[in-house]
Amino acid sequence: MRNEYRSHYVSELASVPEGSEVEVAGWVHETRNIGKIIFLLLRDHSGIVQVTAKEGTSDPQVMKAMDLPKESVVTIRGRIKKNPQVRNGFELLPVRVIDLNPLERSMPFEVTGKVPAELDVRLNYRYVDLRRKETTAIFNIQSAVLHGFRNFAAKNGFQEIRPPSIVEAATEGGADLFQIGYFEKKAYLAQSPQIYKQLAVIGGMDRVFMTVPVFRAEKHNTIFHLNESTQMDIEMGFADHNDAIAMLKKAFSSILDAVLKESAADLETLGVEFQKSRVKDVTYKKAISKLAANGSKIEFGQDFSRDDETMLTRLYGDAIIVKEYPTSIRAFYSMPNSGDPEVSNSYDLIYKGLEISSGAQRIHKPSLLIGALEKRGLDPKEFEFYINAFRMGAPPHAGWSLGLERITMKLTGSTNIRECAMFPRDRERLTP
Ligand code: ATP
Ligand code: MG
Repeated sequence: MRNEYRSHYVSELASVPEGSEVEVAGWVHETRNIGKIIFLLLRDHSGIVQVTAKEGTSDPQVMKAMDLPKESVVTIRGRIKKNPQVRNGFELLPVRVIDLNPLERSMPFEVTGKVPAELDVRLNYRYVDLRRKETTAIFNIQSAVLHGFRNFAAKNGFQEIRPPSIVEAATEGGADLFQIGYFEKKAYLAQSPQIYKQLAVIGGMDRVFMTVPVFRAEKHNTIFHLNESTQMDIEMGFADHNDAIAMLKKAFSSILDAVLKESAADLETLGVEFQKSRVKDVTYKKAISKLAANGSKIEFGQDFSRDDETMLTRLYGDAIIVKEYPTSIRAFYSMPNSGDPEVSNSYDLIYKGLEISSGAQRIHKPSLLIGALEKRGLDPKEFEFYINAFRMGAPPHAGWSLGLERITMKLTGSTNIRECAMFPRDRERLTP
């Protein structure tokens, strides 16, 4: 696309005949001035091209204009010249160089990665950090994850919905909420779209999906938790946990396919290799007895520790669905199993030792729901709006939620979830 600044992206130059004049726009990645010759590497989002000016051949004005600090934004017009010594096999001989916005400050760190920078500094200047190829690769992969999820949804008849993020009350109890002022009232930022996707299914939409921000005022700073994260969610009507688990496996497979297909180069940039692992399922009861046999102290009624999750990976492989957790440790709305009410029709997907998804068949019977609330010491009166929804034709239903940053973390080999949120929110960080 030709405009005022460019005629081609760098990646398009390979097919341009030698001698043609082109215009590229981007950042000065590197420069090298060896007196009679100046090399400048221009980087745009598609690649890097070498621009070479030589005393005697290039216009002296152009030579002067090439003397730019790294990360200057420029548009350069030049002629394509074959050169087998250059990595793309050609270079650009400049005829015009324009600095579009001279730098006013020095760079906080090296975009080329020659000098490693601390995560905190990179996050403070995320707009600079995004120019690093490793950071670009992470967000390319994240975009492929979202494509994979949407492909799955489209193929399996899920309709996209937009639940609200401002809610009147907690839907799950437990997790801490962010309170906000809402005109004369108090309101909260939603910790999950749970209730709204259920209402959509009760409303007759058989299968719904959504990608939504969720907000959790978790006070602890961990490498696995953000205070604002993104969930990829589904809910389906006339379904139990096994139906939803089958869909979770399909979604996971579709996401891995999309990443392998769209982001092979990004995986290479990050030095990550992965095979499409088969997802194994195991019941909670079987899993804890196997863990116990391998030295874990876990007992029925306890959640897996991080060490347990790591051990599960060793025992069962990279991708495991653990199902039928004890009813007492799951959200109150999880359906108790009809054959064994001590456990619920709930499940988690653990990938490379980290929980990336949770789900359950939901209780759709008001009396059961009231009992479940009371058992947890919660007042059913405070959940009246929710319970009433099950009194006017609510079918059995089930669903799950997949954490976008968590799955991105595991697919990119990142050690801190903040790497996988473009502008992460944690206890300390509200900017940029
Ligand atoms: P955990 O026990 O690991 O804190 P959770 O069980 O409280 O997570 P769920 O309510 O099951 O989380 O949320 C669904 C999914 O959303 C999780 O499986 C995870 O992938 C992701 N997720 C949950 N909380 C966070 C968070 N604070 N930061 C990033 N991702 C999160
Ligand atoms: Mg969970």
